[in-house]
Amino acid sequence: MTITAPMDAAARRQSLSKPSLRQDAIAWATRAIGQFRFGSPADVATPEQAVDLGTRAETAGYKWTAIAFFRRALTIDASCTEAITGLGRLQFEKPAQPFMDELRRRFAADICEVIIEIRNPCNYRCFYCVAAGHNNEPVKRFDLAAIEKTLSQIRADLVVIQFDCGGGEPTVHPQFTDLLRICAMRGAVSFPSNNSQDPARWLPAELARRIYVRAAVHPETESKTGLERYARYAQHLMDAGCEFLSMFIAHPTRLSRISEYRAYFAERRVPFIPVPFIGEYEGRSYPHSFTDDEKRMIGLVEEESNWYLQIQPHVNRIRNFRGIPCLAGFRSLTIARDGGIRRCVYDARKLAGPLAEPEPCQVKSCGCGLVLRDVNQMSMPDHYNIFARRAGLEPVDVSWMDAAAMDHGYRSATEAVVAEYKGMYDELMRAYGKEEFRE
Ligand code: SF4
Ligand code: SF4
Repeated sequence: MTITAPMDAAARRQSLSKPSLRQDAIAWATRAIGQFRFGSPADVATPEQAVDLGTRAETAGYKWTAIAFFRRALTIDASCTEAITGLGRLQFEKPAQPFMDELRRRFAADICEVIIEIRNPCNYRCFYCVAAGHNNEPVKRFDLAAIEKTLSQIRADLVVIQFDCGGGEPTVHPQFTDLLRICAMRGAVSFPSNNSQDPARWLPAELARRIYVRAAVHPETESKTGLERYARYAQHLMDAGCEFLSMFIAHPTRLSRISEYRAYFAERRVPFIPVPFIGEYEGRSYPHSFTDDEKRMIGLVEEESNWYLQIQPHVNRIRNFRGIPCLAGFRSLTIARDGGIRRCVYDARKLAGPLAEPEPCQVKSCGCGLVLRDVNQMSMPDHYNIFARRAGLEPVDVSWMDAAAMDHGYRSATEAVVAEYKGMYDELMRAYGKEEFRE
């Protein structure tokens, strides 16, 4: 079978961008009239003024004039959210998404993701900890009744609750078991752990099937007895009915141990994956700086890892999503210790309730994975299936996906998702001026 790569966004734009002389003349005249009606962007001194004129030009149908005003606003203040949103709204050209379009037609699930912050100290001190300096926070207690009430107000077919543990180990929090029980009664629960605590102490066994433990093998586990204890606890959790995933932070200095651990955990039937280190090491930014060989070792290459891991280096290139529509606050909620709702852990403003629709991000830096309206993990059936099973719902059929991807010219569904998500991310960054206007 001949594999034809789908036309990428740039090629598509090029193929569409051959205006006739008549179209050129019309565009020129429209810009001239727009400038005559609204004035020159160069004469505008404040971002507020520029946004106001841009919005009025847009409403009146003068797209290029509006773009010029939004650009002017960003030249004065690159963090002007309304200007970024306006620019993106007008410049965005949907890239080719044949596979994702089909997927959206065939799979629509009403999922709400909930993030709950747990704050307490960590019992480990890993040298690569991204939370170093924040991994000794004192215990912050929950108003469990308020959290239970907020959870009961969420309307969705599937509620997925994730614990954000900052720099702490959640299983040592004194209210952990009670919190876990409340959450697991409302939906599927997923959290990271260093798996150092005996689950016989903290696991509410009657709800184990709703729980997904993502446990990293950290340096303090890496002794013979440490690994044996880790494997014993993993076995306990899996026997009780939990989903358990063993992870290894693939820091540039630790890559040589990946094959050894793959064999160790395979022998014990404990699922294991390396996870790329995210951060700075020796002046370089990772995972972007991993060589091709290192990416292969970690499993960041095609056919060896899932789509989400494959796109990580690409979508971590720019993490300033200010102004871009995001599901946070709408289909992804952060619940504070007092039961209050926020959009996400990076946006501290309190909401009166969930938002009615996706809204532009309001902050400079996002570390929340992928929650953007047009690129997010929640639209994917594999993500749904992991948690639907945990919440006692039927998984959706994904057997059609590879064949459909081939019909669209890809080798597999994973390749299709990776290519189309990268294309969408690139177009969002371009349209919303993220390369051009740096905050
Ligand atoms: S276990 Fe996690 S939070 Fe604790 S020090 Fe290690 S990386 Fe940081
Ligand atoms: S920080 Fe991330 S998750 Fe939060 S609103 Fe912005 S893009 Fe969305």
